[in-house]
Amino acid sequence: MNVLDRLKENFDEVEQALSKQEAVEESNRCLYCYDAPCITACPTGIDIPSFIQKISSDNVYGSARTIMEANPVGASCARVCPTEELCEGACVLNHSTTPIMIGKLQRYATDWAKHNEKVLFKRGRPIDRSIGIIGGGPAGLSCARELAVQGYAVTIYEANEEAGGLDTYGIVSFRLPKAVSRWEVEQVEQLGVDIQTNCKVGEDVSFNEIQSKHDSIVLAIGMGEVPNLHLYGETLEGVHDAIQLVKSTKKDDLPEPLVGKRGS
Ligand code: SF4
Repeated sequence: MNVLDRLKENFDEVEQALSKQEAVEESNRCLYCYDAPCITACPTGIDIPSFIQKISSDNVYGSARTIMEANPVGASCARVCPTEELCEGACVLNHSTTPIMIGKLQRYATDWAKHNEKVLFKRGRPIDRSIGIIGGGPAGLSCARELAVQGYAVTIYEANEEAGGLDTYGIVSFRLPKAVSRWEVEQVEQLGVDIQTNCKVGEDVSFNEIQSKHDSIVLAIGMGEVPNLHLYGETLEGVHDAIQLVKSTKKDDLPEPLVGKRGS
């Protein structure tokens, strides 16, 4: 096995998933609080007690739907959200025992939907209006999902070869494998959203061209370059832009200096 193959092994997902039994046992610990502070603490307002209760009653499809309805990138967030500071930090069980493992339960439900190839949403009755979205990251995908469910014809213009933005390219695979982000993109594509990849607005297509094709345009441009700090040495060979470095690991395109001086 060469050094690059060995390096790739380091990018396998680290955090273990819950088994079905563990997920059910954990979900049965939840008090299903009426005025649940975990919901208030969730930036996307997921109905956490509801999705947990559905796991306990073996309605995992319904659980995944509850999560993804509030947050179209809920499978990614299950892995990367700082839950100990958000929902789990607010869980009432912190006062008596340990908080519910909300992030892991969220991952359990969305993983189930992914492994069972479930389509969670349907396109709404077609509306004769066309929307162009520039940027296929979390914001662009979320916008596209909402519009497609309402029946709009939606086209996303994405500069990279895959949509998903930061979730696809900006978070290391041992925390967030690309397959998870791909599944979220597929959920949007299955609603009939046209995702045009390798399509950089201003280079591959002009803004005027997009404007002439659509009734409205949404700008959802997120992930960009990391700005220089203007420190001595930051432009020297071997000093890498953090986002670009992570992106290269997710494209199997590691920069050569990472191979090391001995090359093995
Ligand atoms: S605060 Fe904790 S116990 Fe209450 S509903 Fe949320 S996860 Fe369940």
